[in-house]
Amino acid sequence: MEKQDSKPRILIIYTGGTIGMIEDPVTRTLNPFNFNHLIDNVPKVKMLDYVIEHIQFEPPIDSSNVNPRHWQLIAAQIEKNYSDFDGFVVLHGTDTMAYTASALSFMLEHLRKPVIITGSQLPIGEVRTDGEENLITALQIAAAVDPVNGEPMVQEVAILFENYLWRGNRSTKRSADNFNAFKSNNYPSLARIGLSIQFDHDALWRVHDRLPLKVHMGLNTDVIVVYVHPGLTEQSLRQQLETPGVKGVVLKTYGAGNAPAAEWFNRPIKEAIERGVVVVNVTQCANGGVRQRRYFTGDCLARCGVISGHDITTEAALTKLMFLFGTGLSAQQVSNCMLRPICGEMTI
Ligand code: ASP
Repeated sequence: MEKQDSKPRILIIYTGGTIGMIEDPVTRTLNPFNFNHLIDNVPKVKMLDYVIEHIQFEPPIDSSNVNPRHWQLIAAQIEKNYSDFDGFVVLHGTDTMAYTASALSFMLEHLRKPVIITGSQLPIGEVRTDGEENLITALQIAAAVDPVNGEPMVQEVAILFENYLWRGNRSTKRSADNFNAFKSNNYPSLARIGLSIQFDHDALWRVHDRLPLKVHMGLNTDVIVVYVHPGLTEQSLRQQLETPGVKGVVLKTYGAGNAPAAEWFNRPIKEAIERGVVVVNVTQCANGGVRQRRYFTGDCLARCGVISGHDITTEAALTKLMFLFGTGLSAQQVSNCMLRPICGEMTI
């Protein structure tokens, strides 16, 4: 395909989610519906002077059904259409949006175009829908260029929801009913959406090399999340850590990265690490991060060989492990890569 004019060219990848759903008249549940229904409900899209094309998942899905195969499908479409479009808008359910955004951020190496993920809390056909505004704003952000150098303003995977644009791999769904459904607790917003779209230039990700987009399709799902809680037993901890084939564990700890200091807790962790399992410490808190050496209880984990996830989100830690193991790295190499950020997912 050839670029025919200077209008921004945007590709919408519609995966499903509430934004395109319609209520089943019999069961009264919301079910994904096709793209034509969605776009017919947003006539304002035609007011944008852009060339907009779309592709959709067949069938569109509720994002609770998303798995790494769907991330590969989205990444493959971006790869296939990368040179023909200026930006990409992914319409996606909110439930797993932060996982998809995190995964894509690792899979799309050297990305230098916007991949804006959005959806809505109310279906687009409803009178008070937030979907119309989110879709229009996502398209405008995907088309935005830096007036200084003419380059895309956003050169990363980001989530647009209501009043904010967030870095994808820093975001978490924080509300099941608020229109501002997402937040990045440990990183500022990339843009604030009000009367105008105000980008925070210092917060936006920039790749300084000019290497072509490299898409990593390999994802290894032998990764689990283990949630520490009062009453957790050695038996339950062991069962999780000894799940056959497990290569990576996101250990969700208290506060600054703390967990029981007792032998029954630390021994299974140490044994897992000795078997070659990579264990990453991620706090259960919404804000702040892990500082393993601050308390004796966290220091025990460090001495077992647990890696600090600093201020990474669970979504980013999980998908980063899937991505790193998917590239075929050894446990030692994965551990080294977990210690430092790849594409702005944590601050150390
Ligand atoms: N269950 C829906 C989904 O994630 C919720 C939403 O889109 O807000 O697809």
